[in-house]
Amino acid sequence: MKLTLNLKSLKRLSWPDRLLGIALMTLSLVVVLNGRPPAMATSLEGQTWTGASFPVENFQAYTSPFGFRHSPTGGRGYEFHSGLDIAAPEGSYIRSWWGGTVVEVINDSGCGVGLVIESGDWEHIYCHLGGQVQTRLGRRTLMDRGGIQVVEGQSVPSAARIARVGMSGRTTGPHLHWGLRYGDRWVDPALVLRAMHRDR
Ligand SMILES: [Zn+2]
Repeated sequence: MKLTLNLKSLKRLSWPDRLLGIALMTLSLVVVLNGRPPAMATSLEGQTWTGASFPVENFQAYTSPFGFRHSPTGGRGYEFHSGLDIAAPEGSYIRSWWGGTVVEVINDSGCGVGLVIESGDWEHIYCHLGGQVQTRLGRRTLMDRGGIQVVEGQSVPSAARIARVGMSGRTTGPHLHWGLRYGDRWVDPALVLRAMHRDR
């Protein structure tokens, strides 16, 4: 069966195929509405991961995997979850996965207080952090009582404490939402963690 379907061609199909067609059209609509579909970086194998750090202290559990899922806050059906959720007690320190440059300090309703760090072709994203975002000398700065001060443009070494687990943005409990992008593609952080573990 062809993957390109429209309503006219649906009418010519028998019912089982019609249902499959409707499912496919719904799925492609979800992909369009949620932006880019998940894609794997081809370079995971053969990389050396000894420079990488696990991104959070006091690990408790992986609470939501990367990929399509039902919306955790209800409504709107399926959504694409672009990262891995790692539960840890509120106030636990978050460590930079890799040495790099802080390219963005986020403060919005979804991610909440967050950071984007660039390391070569990779970007690592941290959401639902504690603390506040302030603008100092024209640059956004994450300030946190735990001795954290991270400013846009600064460089951070691997495993540096860059933030603490909080409850900001769209979240139902304290956890780190950790995203990884390679080029312009989201990568499943669990695959990277597995590769890091193999490298130990
Ligand atoms: Zn998440």
